[in-house]
Amino acid sequence: MIHRTASLAFTGATLDRASERRGDAAWLRAQRADAKARILPMWRSMPFLWGPADAGAVTELGLIDPETAKAVGPERAQEVFLGLEGAVPHFARDISALSYPLDGPLAGLGHFREAREALPFLPLPQVAILGQAKALMSWHAAHGFCARCGAGTRSEESGHRRLCPACGAEHFPRTDPAVIMLVTGGDRCLLGRNRRFAASLTYSTLAGFVEPGESIEEAVRREVFEEVGVRTGDVRYFAAQPWPFPYSLMIGCYARALGTEIVIDGEEIIAARWFDRETIQAILRGEDRDGVKLPRHDAIAFHLIANWADLEG
Ligand SMILES: [Zn+2]
Repeated sequence: MIHRTASLAFTGATLDRASERRGDAAWLRAQRADAKARILPMWRSMPFLWGPADAGAVTELGLIDPETAKAVGPERAQEVFLGLEGAVPHFARDISALSYPLDGPLAGLGHFREAREALPFLPLPQVAILGQAKALMSWHAAHGFCARCGAGTRSEESGHRRLCPACGAEHFPRTDPAVIMLVTGGDRCLLGRNRRFAASLTYSTLAGFVEPGESIEEAVRREVFEEVGVRTGDVRYFAAQPWPFPYSLMIGCYARALGTEIVIDGEEIIAARWFDRETIQAILRGEDRDGVKLPRHDAIAFHLIANWADLEG
């Protein structure tokens, strides 16, 4: 099978996370104090990007130097260590406390943009940095209090752990596994329309969260049956995509259908149908087929569909 995943957004990170050294507080302090360090300001989940906000112009993450960062946001802003690019330490800094982040040192240098909107305009390795920063910051924003005793927690190991000073509980950044699957049967695949995108004619793969005590294969079969009433047998892994909204891991699979009759749940999925391979190939070539749209190119859903269509391509 061809694995066409080279441009899968949020993968292909080039930073060395140096996870074996993050427990060393002195080493981390030295990295943060290094004049070469680069810091990504994040404001209310949005990354700082160089240049003006208008436009479809290609841009880059606004990685600022430590001197500039010092004057941006509260003194004790949440920071996370992302990793090393060669000898250059990278951090992210949450300045959400500011009511307007483009006053002061950042004025005129760049802008903040929703992560999803920024994806097509960033180089792929920077999308991976953004994904890591956004997932960690979202986790910190939601875990300020201990899940065991309710006391305020504090960030440790430069944002890779939170510790409860009251009861001693340690809390680690979460990644929530979700399955995303293309159901196939013979020379056809099954796609559905999600209620969240009801305004468009976008047909995509099915998806859902893995539940506690469930394997990936079991989650795939349960979700497919729940959403479209089709039983599936063979499940094969394709590729995974970190999806920092807020901190999921999308596990992409192919699932072979055991039947063809569709019974939609009507909740999450408002329509579903079988598409033959020729139709999918035509839509991928840009031809119109009943106005059907496929998912955006940076999502693993698109790669699952395109990879399947390529087999006879
Ligand atoms: Zn506690």
